[in-house]
Amino acid sequence: MTQFLQIDADSSQGYLLQSMTNTDTNDVEATVAQVIELKNAGADLVRVAVPGMKEVASLRKIKNTLLEKNIQIPLVADVHFLPKVAEETATFVEKVRINPGNFTSSITSHFSPLIPDFENLLLNAQSLFEICKKHNTIIRVGVNQGSLSERIISRYGHTTEALVVSALEWMDVSEKYDYHRIFFSIKSSSVKTMMDANLLFYKKMKERSRVYPLHLGVTEAANEMEGRVKSAIGIGGLLLSGLGNTFRVSLTENPVQEIMFSKLLVEAVQDVKDANFVSEKNDVLHINYLETNKEKWWAGVGALVGKIWLHNEFKDLKIENHHFSKTEIERLRDCILQICGIKKTKTEIIACPSCGRTQYDIQAVLSEVKKHFSNYPHLKIAVMGCVVNGPGEMADADFGIIGSTNEKVAVYKGKERVSDFVPVQEALRFLKDLVLKSLLYL
Ligand code: SF4
Repeated sequence: MTQFLQIDADSSQGYLLQSMTNTDTNDVEATVAQVIELKNAGADLVRVAVPGMKEVASLRKIKNTLLEKNIQIPLVADVHFLPKVAEETATFVEKVRINPGNFTSSITSHFSPLIPDFENLLLNAQSLFEICKKHNTIIRVGVNQGSLSERIISRYGHTTEALVVSALEWMDVSEKYDYHRIFFSIKSSSVKTMMDANLLFYKKMKERSRVYPLHLGVTEAANEMEGRVKSAIGIGGLLLSGLGNTFRVSLTENPVQEIMFSKLLVEAVQDVKDANFVSEKNDVLHINYLETNKEKWWAGVGALVGKIWLHNEFKDLKIENHHFSKTEIERLRDCILQICGIKKTKTEIIACPSCGRTQYDIQAVLSEVKKHFSNYPHLKIAVMGCVVNGPGEMADADFGIIGSTNEKVAVYKGKERVSDFVPVQEALRFLKDLVLKSLLYL
């Protein structure tokens, strides 16, 4: 296992670039084709959604087909809710991503109010650790703000500390089982929360004298400029601060675009890391990174802003680059000020990148939502791929559209579903009514 590619994090190797397939995992041919496409684009490893045991069998076929074609790319099984699925996939893929917020929620056999929480956690994780140890499989403990366990939320609320505690618990589990091929990720759709939590977790690991590799990412970043700049600020700012071994830029687009922008982000981080492109006067940041490639320029400016924002507040931003028009520069400035919560000029629209669990055209729906609902700076609207994770992940949004099966979607108000599962156009009409009614109460 994993003889052909070293995928343990080591900063001397640079950053490992990741993406995730958004084909149906049971469509083996399509998923194999997308994995190959991502590898050819420059992905170092590819994650595949594994919602249940049927997909375990499909993932095994995907793995075998790639091997038969002599295509060497490590696969990461993305697992929520079902420890058995994680355990099965750990026998044949290089890495398994589990979500500590829901890893144990479906297990009742070991749970007992008489056993302390940590003992329960140990019992539930034991089998996975034994299998990973036997097969040398890496575990990614993927903490997401939108899917923290009720147990953690009831004690720590929806705080940065809650995210860090959730990761630290699994660090304790890995110590207990003496298995250390573990990556951690702490993600949020709030760029600042994601950055603060990663920094705090990194400090806590250093205090414990054991620093595990970090996988970085901003969730529900959506697409186009906003999606790229969110990742540039969050991921780039942390990379410039010396954190992070691997990352995924999440975009609600063809996943190949995630890799294309990831490569630009790595190049931009190299460009700006030792140069002096930033000055500050009266809480106004001045950035003069004179890159000519537009997306690389976004990446570099975003990373520089992120690095400053990680430790200091700022009130305004001035960007200079004679290679771009005043309009282009203002567009980037407005985008960054909106993401940093300094000046809101439009609706905050978040969207998951989609994955093998999505059963409708999320990219088209996101585009419709942006077209019709972008002018409400006081609102946050979400477009999510599936009902499994969607409601939790969009819980702090005012409204959302979440996909179900057979191209149907439902409208949500906060965490509450307020429509039936209906065709997209019907849901968009329903959402329009809801948004207009909400304006009456302003
Ligand atoms: S919310 Fe989106 S990315 Fe997350 S599991 Fe569902 S479809 Fe996949």
